Amino acid sequence: MQILQGIAVSPGVAIGETMVIDNEGFRIPRRFVTRDAVEDELERFERAVEAVAAEMERSRDSITQKLGAQIGAIFSAHLQMLRDDRLQVEIAEMIRERHYSPEYAVSRVLRSYAKVFEELNMHNAHDIIDLEKSLLRNLLGRRREELSHLASPVIVLAHNLTPSETAHLDRRFVMGFVTEVGAAGGHTAIVAKGLEIPAVVGTGRFLTDVSGGDLVIVDGDQGRVILQPDEETIARYRHEVEEHRSLAARLDELRDLPAKTADGASVQLWGNIEFPHEATACVDRGADGIGLYRTEFLYLGEDEEPTEQHHFDAYSEVVKVMKGRPVVFRTLDLGADKIDTGGLVDEEKNPFLGLRSIRLSLRNPPLFRTQLRAMLRASSVGDVRIMFPMITTLQELRQAKMILADVMEDLDEAGVPFNRELPVGMMVEVPAAVTMLDHFVKEVDFISIGTNDLIQFALAVDRSNPDVAHLYHHTDPAVLRMIAAAIDVAREAEVPVSLCGQMSGNASCTMLLLGLGLHTLSAPSSAVPEIKKICRSVTLDHCKSVAQRAMSMDNAREIDKYLQEELKRVAPELVVS
Ligand code: PEP
Ligand code: MG
Repeated sequence: MQILQGIAVSPGVAIGETMVIDNEGFRIPRRFVTRDAVEDELERFERAVEAVAAEMERSRDSITQKLGAQIGAIFSAHLQMLRDDRLQVEIAEMIRERHYSPEYAVSRVLRSYAKVFEELNMHNAHDIIDLEKSLLRNLLGRRREELSHLASPVIVLAHNLTPSETAHLDRRFVMGFVTEVGAAGGHTAIVAKGLEIPAVVGTGRFLTDVSGGDLVIVDGDQGRVILQPDEETIARYRHEVEEHRSLAARLDELRDLPAKTADGASVQLWGNIEFPHEATACVDRGADGIGLYRTEFLYLGEDEEPTEQHHFDAYSEVVKVMKGRPVVFRTLDLGADKIDTGGLVDEEKNPFLGLRSIRLSLRNPPLFRTQLRAMLRASSVGDVRIMFPMITTLQELRQAKMILADVMEDLDEAGVPFNRELPVGMMVEVPAAVTMLDHFVKEVDFISIGTNDLIQFALAVDRSNPDVAHLYHHTDPAVLRMIAAAIDVAREAEVPVSLCGQMSGNASCTMLLLGLGLHTLSAPSSAVPEIKKICRSVTLDHCKSVAQRAMSMDNAREIDKYLQEELKRVAPELVVS
């Protein structure tokens, strides 16, 4: 049994067999082969060595011809490494004596070599990894197994999953996933939560220690991964799975009740979605609306830019499902870690600070207008609101509103129905917007605080980088002061304010947020039932005193501890130990 600690990004527990996807997207098959298959497997390995050697010779010759013998010699060095007797013997022995599969033996041996090179700071560790990739490519024959076409339940273990790959996971078969990289604020984590797949990210390297088919437990509550668990651990976690189920059933009973505090203050609980089909989950969980529809996910996996009709179909589907409840459409927040922008943006050194979000929309008016037309058309079917992401300056807001007004005029002229009075708001997720909020509130109908980005910009911590994940705290006092300031300015101006970052789905923050003056929270739909439970278990006065006390503390650790204690007092069943 081996226990890894990572970052919990999507709650729940999953127990099952692993499917291992390595750095390059290859599926590493089972570790062992049967005794009578050993000779065939040895031959397969030898054939792979010959094929890779032939490939390298071809590359060496053609490069020598084009660029000269000195560069061509790089391939000679690779070839020498591949032909190294000791290496071959070591791999063959693993296949013959331990009955390892050739793929597993190749990975095992070459990675142990690479590790030694890395430890000695020798630059050619990556040459060894390249060699491993070449051999695996040959042994496995094809690239990443279609994660979306699985036939049996698995827990996916991967070096990394992009938000797009995560979104395409087949929910029927993927019980959970673990990635070596990633952090809580990244969009892979957000998609996992939306799909309700227990997930842990940022564990650091461990894939060389597992093999396809091994048993694993993913503890998405505590961020723990247990490889090859013993019987006692399995029994304990099976019990936990049962407890999760019975808690969900109890919370389900609150579905049709309002999210009112015990002293009568009413709270709006909205859901965040990435895909139209998630709207149903919002209704099923008793959400009062959709406070954040991340429309950029429409671009996911599409080779071509979505047409206006494509946008409209998705938007009207959501509006119809929500049956008159509000739906806040956020205009495209493309870029950063989210979705390949299909060439709209060149590779950037700091993509989170780059040409993303509203900046990208303003740079591409046709793209922006197409989306706005579709949103406006959907406004004739229900309560649609439009929100601009990542607004940093008043000029940006005004420009975005001007384009919106222009699109409205076009629709008017064409006689297309839409709601001219639809509320227009902005995300407050850049510190500059907090500082200048007294000006912004004069020009918007509502604001929504986006803590996911606000935290990364306020604390200068890349939200998707595991190396600095320990510095990314939604309860950092600096962040809390920004949230409190934004709420105060909005309240003063009588502009509705909500919070739609992941923080609003975090049970231990609910009392704090209510106490700071928020009455609308937009969270992943899976979190709505427990947040409602908390709202119904507290009084606003108590929340205010919790907020006051938390705001007097000077570090996130102390605040977290205090909030956990308070949560335990009002809703002990929601506290995971
Ligand atoms: C945020 O930044 O808090 C937010 C809600 O948006 P996203 O996570 O899509 O950047
Ligand atoms: Mg954001």
